[in-house]
Amino acid sequence: MVQGKRWVIGKPFEGSLTDANFHLEEFSLPNLNDGEILVEAVYLTVDPYMRMAMISRPAGDTIAGEQVAKVVESKNAEYPVGTHIVTSPGWVTHSISNGEGISKIDPNYPKDLPLSLALGTLGMTGRSAYIGMTEIGQIKAGETVFVSGAAGAVGSVAGQMAKIMGCRVLGSAGSDEKVAYVKELGFDEVFNYNKVKDIDATIKGLAPNGIDVYFDNVGGDFSMMMIKHMRIYGRVVVCGAISEYNLTDPQKYPSIFCHLLFNSIKVHGFTNFHYTQLYPKAIAQLSEWIQKGQLKYREDVTEGFQNMPKAFMALFLGANKGKAIIKM
Ligand code: NDP
Repeated sequence: MVQGKRWVIGKPFEGSLTDANFHLEEFSLPNLNDGEILVEAVYLTVDPYMRMAMISRPAGDTIAGEQVAKVVESKNAEYPVGTHIVTSPGWVTHSISNGEGISKIDPNYPKDLPLSLALGTLGMTGRSAYIGMTEIGQIKAGETVFVSGAAGAVGSVAGQMAKIMGCRVLGSAGSDEKVAYVKELGFDEVFNYNKVKDIDATIKGLAPNGIDVYFDNVGGDFSMMMIKHMRIYGRVVVCGAISEYNLTDPQKYPSIFCHLLFNSIKVHGFTNFHYTQLYPKAIAQLSEWIQKGQLKYREDVTEGFQNMPKAFMALFLGANKGKAIIKM
């Protein structure tokens, strides 16, 4: 019998998280039935959405999440031992699958790229950037695009895509080091939102004629302020609202409805999981751009399953530099 480890909720998630919200336990996996495979995690991912996914879930529930895993035992001819797959059993070292809801790493996956990218730029965060910029934001060459959370896993891809597609790209990030990195990626203008004295005036200075597409990763006050910089026919792509995930009190915001109305602005939220039909196109395009050297990526790799909570909490402090990955 195989022994696995899993991270479960220690104390239900409310407000900012601490170590007490996480509990590591061991568990036994049963023997395989026909058609089943036993897989072992190789890379896991921590993502801001997990904070929302686990809201109001009780202590003892396994924390949700995706991983790249390797088949270590198989009673399913489709998945021989050694096959790498992407699966979502949560924060666990081992799991059993009957093949439903998992996907093999594409045979065309570039051999020279790390498999961990299947959880980032060539996975959930990359395709979110792609779907947000194309299907939702409908960006066009010559437009001015603003990306908040520009140094993050999604934001860095979103901004580079907009540059590749011929837009003028502006962005914000939380430290000078991140600003320098985003500039290296080719963004036209970036500022440190924790440092500039007047964010409103900074944006006005960078985009005196307004923003065509705002790709929003952060929500909250920052994004409410951004709305009034939108041009006529502007599109707000609501990809994430990380500044709100740990809040416990309801927020009060100024009304934006008149501005939306008189400037014909579209605000469109989206969750990538609702656009699965676009995944193959997204991954093929992102993969091509990486291989041509047009799209760069950065991973923030934490070694060790035991460090998952630490890596997860770091996302909400802005401590990660690139896509947060856990290496087993
Ligand atoms: P990141 O890799 O960018 O990590 C999170 C970053 O968010 C931090 O590094 C920090 O960057 C910033 N941040 C943290 N706390 C705050 C805060 N209170 N206010 C403003 N910024 C903050 O994460 P991802 O790129 O993976 O995710 C970005 C957003 O996209 C998240 O909101 C996430 O939930 C969302 N998302 C949505 C998807 C969808 O399908 N719609 C799919 C994937 C992600 P900094 O230091 O620059 O502030």
